[in-house]
Amino acid sequence: MARIKKGDTVTVLSGKDRGKSGKVLQVWPARGRALVEHVNLVTHFERRSQQHQAGGVVQREGAVALSKLSLTCPKCRRPSRPGWTASVQGAKQRVCRRCQEPI
Ligand SMILES: [Zn+2]
Repeated sequence: MARIKKGDTVTVLSGKDRGKSGKVLQVWPARGRALVEHVNLVTHFERRSQQHQAGGVVQREGAVALSKLSLTCPKCRRPSRPGWTASVQGAKQRVCRRCQEPI
């Protein structure tokens, strides 16, 4: 199963945004890439349109390789590799290996 999913908080391990953390906005497991809030900002030049009244330069997130990201536990605020446990219902539950909190 994928280690990182939409809505997770992740920390960037390498590249120009190393050390930054943000929320995962979108994941493409097949491409091994994800979109992370405020990470890998790229400059776009928008034309004037209905959505962009002013047009001009905008900063937008670019895709980041999943291998550069580490899941960060919202409880202990540290990057951690997730573990898996079976819940009472038998469903798999992702947990933080450090504090054993479900994430
Ligand atoms: Zn934790």
